[in-house]
Amino acid sequence: MGELDRRPEAAPAAPREWAYAPAPESRDVVRIAERYGHFVGGEWLEATESYETISPSSEEPLAHVGQATQQDVDGAVGAARNAFANGWSSLPGSERAKYLFRIARLLQERAREFAVLESLNGGKPIKESRDVDLPLAAAHFFYYAGWADKLEYAFPNRRPRPVGVAGQIIPWNFPLLMLSWKIAPALACGNTVVLKPAETTPLTALLFCDVLRQAELPPGVVNIVTGDGRTGAAIVDHPDVDKVAFTGSTEVGKAIQRQLAGSGKKLTLELGGKAANIVFDDCALDQAVEGIVNGIYFNQGHVCCAGSRLFVQESIYEPLVEKLKRRLTTLRVGDPLDKNTDVGAINSAMQLDKIRELVAAGEEEGAEIYQPPCRLPEKGYWFAPTVFTNVAQSYRIAQEEIFGPVLSVLTFRTPEEAVEKANNTPYGLSAGVWTEKGSRILWMAQRLRAGVVWANTYNRFDPASPFGGYKESGFGREGGLHGLEPYLRFDE
Ligand code: NDP
Repeated sequence: MGELDRRPEAAPAAPREWAYAPAPESRDVVRIAERYGHFVGGEWLEATESYETISPSSEEPLAHVGQATQQDVDGAVGAARNAFANGWSSLPGSERAKYLFRIARLLQERAREFAVLESLNGGKPIKESRDVDLPLAAAHFFYYAGWADKLEYAFPNRRPRPVGVAGQIIPWNFPLLMLSWKIAPALACGNTVVLKPAETTPLTALLFCDVLRQAELPPGVVNIVTGDGRTGAAIVDHPDVDKVAFTGSTEVGKAIQRQLAGSGKKLTLELGGKAANIVFDDCALDQAVEGIVNGIYFNQGHVCCAGSRLFVQESIYEPLVEKLKRRLTTLRVGDPLDKNTDVGAINSAMQLDKIRELVAAGEEEGAEIYQPPCRLPEKGYWFAPTVFTNVAQSYRIAQEEIFGPVLSVLTFRTPEEAVEKANNTPYGLSAGVWTEKGSRILWMAQRLRAGVVWANTYNRFDPASPFGGYKESGFGREGGLHGLEPYLRFDE
């Protein structure tokens, strides 16, 4: 046992005296227009209504962005239908693949520009947008480019054919990555697209239109309209949309499912989560602590599959919590564009209010709160990394999706108890298991009601691996071979 393990009562070490020198990424690589319209039929259409999008880390206005009306949505769906009927759907898969490969390469070439813009508009640390969001976004286009001419082999004897116009609505936590998850498989299968980014994070989707032009994608194959939930609802409702793909809150997901009932439209929903990260006493403790930190503080906890409920086997509870608290004192919270930042800004004032409300509920219900000493910037939306111990399963912080940098720690004694507690949630998107025993990993994975189960790692993504939920976390899979199916119909 290490020195720390032998001192269970010791307080977390004091924060270091020295500080990192600022290492800001330059903003000059990206040019933001003063005003954006909607990208329809390969052209920029002026928006009749608009709103201001800001940087959540400084509250600085960045640009005026269009609020799409019913008429704008009609135009976008019309352009997508036209492109579908007049060329794109009948193009050989190998030709469609060329466009996807081009888009992937352009994303790689322009990665720095996209990463800076993503961090500016969304608040996530540049090291995440640079090292996670952008490489994965490009990888998705590369991956689905590879499938475009192999659909007959992916689904033998089923005559796969495109569905038509896909209406796609994405959230604000991984703006460009979610766009890639949606657009790449849709185009690979021969569909055309109308996509709406989230109200707070439209800028990388708008920059992506520039990539579409550079790639010379035929006009109308991808159309991007911006706006709030009303624009999303207009896309979902549009009679000429054949398939809806939605990622966001369970509440809106349920409303969409109700709205589409009986319409015959295909639907996939990727909704919220309250994942269990389960740590057994035989795990590599330091590695598990890193996985726990990555599981909940990555992207400020704005992650649908965040490991927000930590289940620790009782025998290692004290050393683990102590190591975790000490690790928290080393997290650097601040400017998203600083290359040393670990935890950036909360995405919006509204999300910050939600986090504060749930944290207050946790304290009221009797949980014990720990936050490392850290000075938060005065402007912008910030929340310190937080750990709750003494949490009961019935507390709101153990039940509801907080979608912020807040971890609830619970305990268990046996694997059976861990499974029962982990599954005690309306959600079922992901889970983590930390143990050195392969047989235990498999035993747990068979019993956990979660779409993804990570073993001795967390938040690891790959375009070849399907992702999606059970229960109120939604249905349908994105990624991998499974991710093609929602964008195809079969004559069987
Ligand atoms: P929403 O579900 O409201 O937003 C997701 C997307 O749907 C956005 O583009 C949104 O537009 C759009 N939208 C909103 N209302 C409708 C509607 N009636 N019909 C069609 N589209 C609609 O999530 P929020 O941004 O409001 O976040 C609320 C909570 O949801 C978070 O606190 C978090 O717990 C959870 N969440 C989960 C996500 C996940 O990945 N599973 C992602 C984001 C949030 P607009 O941006 O304009 O609201």
